Amino acid sequence: MWAVKPNSFVIDPEGYMYKCWHEVGIKTLAIGNIKGNEKNKNFDRYLKWNTFNPLNYEECKNCKFLPLCMGGCPDKTLFKYRGINEESCTMYKYNLEEMLKMHLKAKLKKGFLPIPVK
Ligand code: SF4
Repeated sequence: MWAVKPNSFVIDPEGYMYKCWHEVGIKTLAIGNIKGNEKNKNFDRYLKWNTFNPLNYEECKNCKFLPLCMGGCPDKTLFKYRGINEESCTMYKYNLEEMLKMHLKAKLKKGFLPIPVK
């Protein structure tokens, strides 16, 4: 979720600034350049990133995993038109019980939990 932080960027060797490492190298998606010669490039994209709010999406708004997931990968949600049609949902949505058991067993194995896990 670093990409949605206002001052978080990925910078390529040529100085192009991107909001997400999924976009690095696609100069048409860069939102600027640290050399200063392309300020406000793709400002609308920059705003989209910085105003991402999972509560704007019905599926997320009504999802019990929202506190854990916070809408998943913003890139996948915001820019589906780029051909990325993967689901943003956390893997916990599909296997929460198994993941919790694995997590607890690992903790128990390390002696962190005083209670037995079935
Ligand atoms: S699990 Fe999926 S639907 Fe639920 S909050 Fe995350 S992205 Fe949204």
